[in-house]
Amino acid sequence: METDILIVGSGCAGLYCALQLPTDKKILIITKDIVENSDSFLAQGGMCMLKDESDYESYFEDTMRAGHSENNPEAVEIMIRSSQDTVKDLLSYGVDFQREEDGSLSFTREGAHSNKRILFHKDITGKEITRKLYAKVQQCPNIQIMEHCTMVDILSEDNVCYGAVVRDEQGRLSTISANYTVLACGGIGGLYKYSTNYKHLTGDGIAIALEHGIELENINYVQIHPTTLYSENPQERSFLISESVRGEGAVLYNAKKERFVDELLPRDRLTEEIRKQMEKDGMPYVWLSMENIPEEEIREHFPNIMEHCRQMGYDVLKECIPVVPAQHYFMGGIKVNMSSHTSMEQLYAIGETACNGVHGKNRLASNSLLESLVFAKRAAKEMTEEFENTKQDIKLVQEADLSVYEDKAALEMRYKDIVLKEIERLDKCTIQ
Ligand SMILES: Cc1cc2nc3c(=O)[nH]c(=O)nc-3n(C[C@H](O)[C@H](O)[C@H](O)COP(=O)(O)OP(=O)(O)OC[C@H]3O[C@@H](n4cnc5c(N)ncnc54)[C@H](O)[C@@H]3O)c2cc1C
Repeated sequence: METDILIVGSGCAGLYCALQLPTDKKILIITKDIVENSDSFLAQGGMCMLKDESDYESYFEDTMRAGHSENNPEAVEIMIRSSQDTVKDLLSYGVDFQREEDGSLSFTREGAHSNKRILFHKDITGKEITRKLYAKVQQCPNIQIMEHCTMVDILSEDNVCYGAVVRDEQGRLSTISANYTVLACGGIGGLYKYSTNYKHLTGDGIAIALEHGIELENINYVQIHPTTLYSENPQERSFLISESVRGEGAVLYNAKKERFVDELLPRDRLTEEIRKQMEKDGMPYVWLSMENIPEEEIREHFPNIMEHCRQMGYDVLKECIPVVPAQHYFMGGIKVNMSSHTSMEQLYAIGETACNGVHGKNRLASNSLLESLVFAKRAAKEMTEEFENTKQDIKLVQEADLSVYEDKAALEMRYKDIVLKEIERLDKCTIQ
């Protein structure tokens, strides 16, 4: 198969990137599962936006402070400065953010934010954004989506990427030739026992980058979310209790139902405090209480969380719920420049798979959707400008030896191993 641009992943980064590319280019999006099964659909809390100039310094500082000042300040500036344009695009696609009575956009707050600057749609902001992007993509005749199609490798020579090897739902292997390949394959939560991520997000792009000597950055910077619903029988994914619940006033209690921490600490510090408390109490969780949030606010802002807890046997209007930290987000990734270009020619990386340095050592809440979109657009801009200077290598792609990918289970195990070993080598995170 041949295409102008191959995008691997159909989360918000992949879909938005496709929409920003010229309509005369043939774009193929492949995705490991169905489109609706991406972490972008799971995002609850919201997406940051620079409200007005008076908030710039504070937003910048909050992002840097949360990231332990290991952030790339240029990337942070680009993200914040591009936020209003990005929101304009989303509104033009019909994204319905919460509004005040006078019709202006409504903002909420989450941990480590000094101000209310987070746009939201109930507690399903990611679903609202991503389904509108998907609807728009479906209207574009130049964009094709192949579901249940997994990239198992990229094809490259002399540090130029010419496409990918893919496996379809029936297990058949084939190759795709492209001028540009864009890795938008999300995070690595599927490598962990307890994670809020979809299980099929196993850091394939990271494993492939490691095998091809593509530069990576800080792949041991893995964020643990402080509050996921505790379950004695962990289901597929840990269910997130969004930070905005604490932003709106929820409090944490120890076993004696006493407060023990500032609930709005950055995620890494709060996780540490919760773990210490769990150890002190000899309990596998701490309590979270929504008693300070008015019932109407809970019903209106957090209906999905309320319903999920109800299904698990907890009435958040009347009682505390048990919460525990779990793997959540990947700050590191494939190293990219400010246009999302990797160290390999004709290869871009966007979204959670990429690392442009925005998040530093720890992501500030609700910066991820924004960062994914802003840097997806920048990738699209550069690809558009540079397209004439790219080429395909049909011969290399057609003659690729596919036999080495035949054993699916062995390949998956090898990729998992490569990534976890590299994270371990960097020796900063606890593998669960
Ligand atoms: C529960 C939860 C709540 C969150 N809440 C927020 C929030 O409120 N605000 C915020 O800013 N961020 C939030 N995040 C983080 C944010 O949702 C993600 O970082 C962001 O959506 C990542 O987008 P993405 O497009 O990079 O990846 P994803 O949306 O994860 O998409 C990855 C895509 O890649 C595909 N893929 C993976 N491997 C392959 C392969 N080998 N071949 C083909 N396809 C592949 C997957 O099928 C998927 O389509 C949350 C995350 C979770 C899990």
